[in-house]
Amino acid sequence: MPEFFDGLRKKMVEEQLLARGITESNVLEAFLSVPRHLFVEEHLWFDAYNDYPLPIGFNQTISQPYIVALMTQALKLSSQDIVLEIGTGSGYQTAILSRIAYHVYTIEVIFPLLEKAQKLLKHLGCENITFSCFDGKKGWPDFLEFDAILVAAATKEIPNQLLKQLKNGGKMIIPLGNSFFQSLYLIKKESHDLIKTHICDCRFVPLV
Ligand code: SAH
Repeated sequence: MPEFFDGLRKKMVEEQLLARGITESNVLEAFLSVPRHLFVEEHLWFDAYNDYPLPIGFNQTISQPYIVALMTQALKLSSQDIVLEIGTGSGYQTAILSRIAYHVYTIEVIFPLLEKAQKLLKHLGCENITFSCFDGKKGWPDFLEFDAILVAAATKEIPNQLLKQLKNGGKMIIPLGNSFFQSLYLIKKESHDLIKTHICDCRFVPLV
């Protein structure tokens, strides 16, 4: 059975990521190594490597593989980077980030989702993650600055506290817009200026 999912995972990487311009080797390796099916309910395992989001309960979804890859690649992470993720959800994006970065801090507002993700990530041996059940708009509860911030839920404006916790020279990836029209933006903080680049149109659950 594990070999069967290895095959689906390889096919996902070739057809959905490589073919669409995801070429950074650290991103591709992370996608090959994380068993995505374990992040959804067992009856959805055979759908887990397909090109669409899936339900994870509590009206939330695990994002489409390509969107997770696009967001990760846009941040151009190194193995020294400290990353903040808002919206742990199933923990799949967290696992991908944890394979690439030095440490990942992740915030989820729905406690049962956080608890489930925490258990699974521990089981998968991801040791470099710190979890918090909190409102991610308020940033990480302690004073910390991040090399990169990934926001996995849509909001009209970039939360101020998140901008404050982004290092000078750091990058944030965030879906901005209302519940119908959203765009994914890469925000670079340079000499206290913000450089905003449009990545693509997208559809995320709202940041509450
Ligand atoms: N990337 C995740 C999916 C995230 S879905 C995955 O791979 O599974 C977005 C998540 O953001 C949901 O779980 C939702 O509960 C969470 N969320 C929404 N508003 C939030 C907030 N203010 N603070 C923290 N998490 C929030």
